[in-house]
Amino acid sequence: MTIPNDSRSARSLPAWRLAEFSLAESAHQDGSALPSGRMSRHTFRIAAVAIAIGFLIIALTTAQASGQQSTIPRTLDAKGAITYFIADGSGQTGYRSPDRELALWALQAWQRIAAKNLRFEAATESSALVRLYWAEPNDGQYGEMRPLIVGGRRGAAVFIRPEVDSWGQDIARRARGDILLRDSIIYLTCLHELGHALGLSHTRDFRDIMYYFGYGGDVVEYFGRYRAQLRSRNDLATVSGLSDGDVSRIRALYSPE
Ligand SMILES: [Zn+2]
Repeated sequence: MTIPNDSRSARSLPAWRLAEFSLAESAHQDGSALPSGRMSRHTFRIAAVAIAIGFLIIALTTAQASGQQSTIPRTLDAKGAITYFIADGSGQTGYRSPDRELALWALQAWQRIAAKNLRFEAATESSALVRLYWAEPNDGQYGEMRPLIVGGRRGAAVFIRPEVDSWGQDIARRARGDILLRDSIIYLTCLHELGHALGLSHTRDFRDIMYYFGYGGDVVEYFGRYRAQLRSRNDLATVSGLSDGDVSRIRALYSPE
């Protein structure tokens, strides 16, 4: 599947990504693309360091922008049902067919917690306000949300990356040996990105689903504490993973008139 490039998207919001060092690391590897030839070893080293610093500055700026993103709530019109579409991910790297259910459970968790104020209803892809796609791995990113305009109404496309190996070495190793941890990460990523789709912004509180890793914090601990509450896969349908802060914020955004 290719990520649809919707020209009507307001702007591409930064993804829920690992801390900036993963970007700096990949920039460092780009050093091998430098022209060699007559360049002395010393000059090469200076150039490589300068380029690495350049990339680091870009990475830090991006991370800062990510942290500050979506400070203005961008709620969806919830007077009627909010239509959604979950794509089939077959063919996507790392995707398994039961993953669709994880996305649905994430949607249902927001609906359940927001009580009567939010109601989701399945629809076709072209008419759905909220669309969830499975995407190829990308640089330590778990997921991404892009605003959409559908028939003049606010909507969002959410991209989830189910490939374990792209999540970073430590968490990938654990997730490979523990399917419930792997499913927890995909479920929580769906929950986080759907939170953005509903208008929620990042927080600095490690307890929140809208917490942003750019503020630091242990990724393994973050996903592991949710995983520790599960005894079987079905528990993913009932253990919401939402904090008190998440609950009060979603209710404030979608409180009845
Ligand atoms: Zn985010």
